[in-house]
Amino acid sequence: MVDAAECGLCGVKVMCRFRPLNDAERSRGDRFIPKFNGEDTVVVAGKPYVFDRVLPPHTEQVQVYDTCAKQIVKDVLGGYNGTIFAYGQTSSGKTHTMEGNLHDPCLMGIIPRIARDIFDHIYSMDENLEFHIKVSYFEIYLDKIRDLLDVSKTNLAVHEDKNRVPFVKGCTERFVSSPDEVMDVIDEGKANRHVAVTNMNEHSSRRTRYFLINIKQENGDGDETVSKTGAEGAVLDEAKNINKSLSALGNVIAALSEGTKTHVPAGYRHTRGGAVERQNKKSSVRTLGKEGYSLASAPAFPWPRRRRRRRDTI
Ligand code: ADP
Repeated sequence: MVDAAECGLCGVKVMCRFRPLNDAERSRGDRFIPKFNGEDTVVVAGKPYVFDRVLPPHTEQVQVYDTCAKQIVKDVLGGYNGTIFAYGQTSSGKTHTMEGNLHDPCLMGIIPRIARDIFDHIYSMDENLEFHIKVSYFEIYLDKIRDLLDVSKTNLAVHEDKNRVPFVKGCTERFVSSPDEVMDVIDEGKANRHVAVTNMNEHSSRRTRYFLINIKQENGDGDETVSKTGAEGAVLDEAKNINKSLSALGNVIAALSEGTKTHVPAGYRHTRGGAVERQNKKSSVRTLGKEGYSLASAPAFPWPRRRRRRRDTI
């Protein structure tokens, strides 16, 4: 998990979640080897590995959310920028972590909890404030962007707005007015995913998926856009794409970890120079996920600003 929100400029936090052995692993006699030492260390074959936090197999979804995401959502609603990125090999638990069971309060993952927290925040605000929320869902497969809410759109392009902030041109946007409506859109997109059968997990699709929520707040003094991107994806299908994508990700994270003076690769430039830094009243969180990394995972994808129809107002 990468959290740039708490650190001001460009800190990175890495949390490592372990899933329990599954039935297939148990039945072939696998054993769970890692040992946990305190909150931040896992020992594998006698060698300690230190993270910002380790999350052992028994960790519940709510604890993962509280540890990895809750603060980022708060920060974003307060005007900061942040990213959550789930990374790991197929079947390691990224979908479980990012989505989980969308309709089960105990088993829901990070993205539905983010949606719930955002709406809780909105409901607790002054009635005179208007919030305009729209969501979008797409995947990147072999470097092509495909709209998961309109499967006829199979090769969308990334454009930049006048502030050089990237967005996916022509991607379907749906207005939502409750967490349930957010879940419905995720379900619709999931139904449109191609399911790739792999020898590790037949439910894995070798794609990087992005779920985006754009929140615009308006009041008498002007407006403020909070843009949140929830994303989750799987491995890209071809090794060359995996390598290209992941080495780009590695470069970005390494550069960010080393501090602000380090050169950050070009694919990330929009994130650092994006809405928050250009306009104080804007902020964005990007919740990115799964194995694949592509140009789309670094930048924010705020939509061009437009007035919404009244019925979409919460
Ligand atoms: P990935 O998205 O990384 O390919 P999944 O999230 O689909 O992997 O997880 C693979 C399987 O393991 C799924 O059946 C999922 O429900 C299960 N699983 C993953 N993480 C956990 C966990 N922390 N606890 C229980 N089951 C898990």
